[in-house]
Amino acid sequence: MKKTVIVTGGGRGIGAATSRLLGKEGYAVCVNYRSDKISAEAVVADIQAEGGTAFACQGDVSDENEVMALFDAAEQVLGPVTHLVNNAGILFEQTLLAEMSLARFNQVLLTNVTSCFLCCREFVQRISQAGAIVNVSSAAARTGAPFEYVDYAASKGAMDSLTKGLSLEVASKGIRVNTVRPGFIHTDMHADGGEPGRVARLSPQIPMQRGGEPEEVAEAIVWLLSEKASYVTGSSVDLAGGK
Ligand code: NAP
Repeated sequence: MKKTVIVTGGGRGIGAATSRLLGKEGYAVCVNYRSDKISAEAVVADIQAEGGTAFACQGDVSDENEVMALFDAAEQVLGPVTHLVNNAGILFEQTLLAEMSLARFNQVLLTNVTSCFLCCREFVQRISQAGAIVNVSSAAARTGAPFEYVDYAASKGAMDSLTKGLSLEVASKGIRVNTVRPGFIHTDMHADGGEPGRVARLSPQIPMQRGGEPEEVAEAIVWLLSEKASYVTGSSVDLAGGK
């Protein structure tokens, strides 16, 4: 069976590592990006250099029309979409909830949760065979991320609930839906939160005494998408070094 996957936010960080690994595993990969075309095209070039199939597709996954266009493009270029990784996500500077603007809160929910809803809906409406979705949540869904990003944590908690509910709605159709919940992973995201060195600062608090690598998260995502996880749905894999 041909496997075709869309990885949202697939040009950088965890999404890039996941796209590369999926390419190696024989998936045709649609590497979605919002603004960083150069990084997305570099991931595509890496996959192609290893003999894989991939293309980069711009699209803001928090926008309904752009999500439909993304799926149309993936289908046209690669064929029916059988797998989906909802990885795109944002956070803003560390702040207290009491000082958070409504515009920021809404932007985080729109980008992290609404995008996941839109892509999941598009996927299940279009798929006519067995398939799988992995949603990239966060350990923040468990911790609440106090004093830093309660908005972000709330968005990831919502992704967990969405995953559970959707997994039960589509289980009998052979579609599996799971999440991964990474802890502190070495990506550019922490710079967006105003602290590029955040993972190093927090490493002593992690039982394994180090941050994670995007490739370590990608391994779990690819396993959950694969037939090796054929009896796993509505579940979550924590990748947080014991935290
Ligand atoms: P990152 O390096 O900052 O990458 C974020 C990616 O999301 C980028 O490729 C970006 O695309 C894309 N993106 C953002 N908004 C988008 C939108 N509206 N439409 C399409 N793409 C969009 O972050 P990361 O650390 O790899 O994070 C990936 C996922 O893992 C996120 O969901 C994040 O919450 C989650 N996570 C990360 C950590 C961590 O410690 N790093 C921990 C737990 C969970 P452009 O580059 O084109 O803008």
